[in-house]
Amino acid sequence: MPISTYAISIGSNRPGRHGRPEAEVSAAIGALTGVVAVAPIIASAPIGPSIRRFANTAILVETKDDPPALLARLKAIERDFGRRRGRRWGARVIDLDIILWSGGSWGEAGLTVPHIGFRARGFVLDPLARIAADWRDPVTGLSVRQLAYRLRAVDQRASRP
Ligand code: ATP
Ligand code: MG
Ligand code: MG
Repeated sequence: MPISTYAISIGSNRPGRHGRPEAEVSAAIGALTGVVAVAPIIASAPIGPSIRRFANTAILVETKDDPPALLARLKAIERDFGRRRGRRWGARVIDLDIILWSGGSWGEAGLTVPHIGFRARGFVLDPLARIAADWRDPVTGLSVRQLAYRLRAVDQRASRP
């Protein structure tokens, strides 16, 4: 397998052993090899009575892994970060999703690339646009910048009275 580039989105909405969600996101980046670009981490403070904080970012990884091999690597990190004895499985300490692959599309049971929901998620598109604005989604032909712009336009329309 030649070297390919992947865009990965990273999210956390629960503190773990590294600390707050932002610290979990940073630690997950440190646990990966082949990282060539890291977007700023977008962290949200708790709103209202909720105590939940969110942290999201996107990274680019270069690797010889094919998509299933990379997913296996990501899942191993998720398991390592997510294990907490005596707690029920709830919000995720870390979520690592494959968003785009330089090889194009991959579709197989349990793994779809490009990620099926990423075009509707600002918390994926906004960080990704900071490091890969010109990367074209092979399904729509639109760049990450265009997808982010389109989503913001939709959101603004939706919030008009
Ligand atoms: P979402 O995919 O909507 O963001 P999630 O990330 O919370 O949801 P998970 O519990 O992390 O969902 O993953 C559920 C399954 O999704 C995984 O077991 C994995 O096999 C599958 N999956 C399919 N496509 C992808 C992808 N592109 N990246 C990561 N996981 C994927
Ligand atoms: Mg996810
Ligand atoms: Mg996931």
